[in-house]
Amino acid sequence: MDKLVYGTAVDGTVRVMAAITTDIVAEAMRRHETSPTVSAAFGRVLTVTLMLGASLKEFDRLTVKIECDGAVGGLVAEASNQGTVRGYVKNPHAELPPKANGKFDVSGIVGNGTLYVIRESGYDIGLYREPYVGSVPLVSGEIAEDFAYYMAKSEQIPSAVLLGVLLQNTEPFVTASGGVMIQMMPGANEHIATMIEDTIGHAPHLTTVITQGATPRDLLNLVLGVIDFEILEERAVVFSCNCSFERAVSLISSLGRTEVASMLEEDKGAKMTCGFCNEIYTLGEPDLQKMLASEIV
Ligand SMILES: [Zn+2]
Repeated sequence: MDKLVYGTAVDGTVRVMAAITTDIVAEAMRRHETSPTVSAAFGRVLTVTLMLGASLKEFDRLTVKIECDGAVGGLVAEASNQGTVRGYVKNPHAELPPKANGKFDVSGIVGNGTLYVIRESGYDIGLYREPYVGSVPLVSGEIAEDFAYYMAKSEQIPSAVLLGVLLQNTEPFVTASGGVMIQMMPGANEHIATMIEDTIGHAPHLTTVITQGATPRDLLNLVLGVIDFEILEERAVVFSCNCSFERAVSLISSLGRTEVASMLEEDKGAKMTCGFCNEIYTLGEPDLQKMLASEIV
C-alpha cells in the first residue's frame, strides 16, 4: 500500500513530506498504457502532486498541468485531500531512446513548456472560490528541478525536491517510485538548508532504498540525516478517480434530447471513456430509453 507522510522539523521552520507511490504509478501505467519513458515522467508528476497536496483541507483539490512541446505533449495530475490522485498524459505511447547514462530521457520527452499549479478550495460543495494559479516556465523538464524552481519562484518557498521512478522490462514493470520534498519556510536557518543539501548530495538514490523496502519515514531520515523531524500525518494514497456510471449517464444526458435520440437510433447505445482514468462506461438501449422517458434530457 502506498503512503504519504507530512511533517515538520527545526521548530516548524522546515516542512517535510515524503511518499512511496510504486502502486500508483503501476496503476497509472496500466490504465493509460504509457510507454516506459512517459511512465517515468508521469510517475514523477503524480508523486509530486500528491506531496504538494499533502496539506490540502477537506474539499480542496490541487491540479498540476504541464503544457510542453516534447513528444509526451502534456501531463495533468490532480490530488484530493482524501489521498487520491488521478491524471493523464496527452501522448501515452510516445517514446525516446534512453540517455547515454542509461536513464530515461524524461527531459527529452517533456521538452520546453510551462508548469501550472492550480489550488482550488470548496470544490464540490458550493463554496467554490476563484482558484489560485501559479506558473513558471520549465527549467529542465526532469520534473523535480522544475518543481523546486516553481516553489522558490512562485510560492517563495525554497525547496528540495527528489523524485524517482524505477522500471524493469518484465512485470511488475514499476519496481519503485517515490519522492521527498523539503520546504524551507520563512525563518528557516541558512545553515540547516546547507546541511540538508549536503546530506542529499551524499544519499543513495531514492529508488534504490525504495526497492529495499523503505517507508516514507525512511526517505525523510535519508534526506534529513541528523535533523529531527515530527510526522504530523500519515495517510494511504492511491490512484483513484471519482467518475462513475451515474456521472457518465448525467454527462450523456447533458448532450440533449436530439443527440441522445440519435445515439439510440444509430448506435443502439453510447460509450464514454473517462479521460482521467481511461475507464469505459457503456450505456445500452434500455439506459438511453430510460433517459428519454424520464425527461431528464
Ligand atoms: Zn475516471
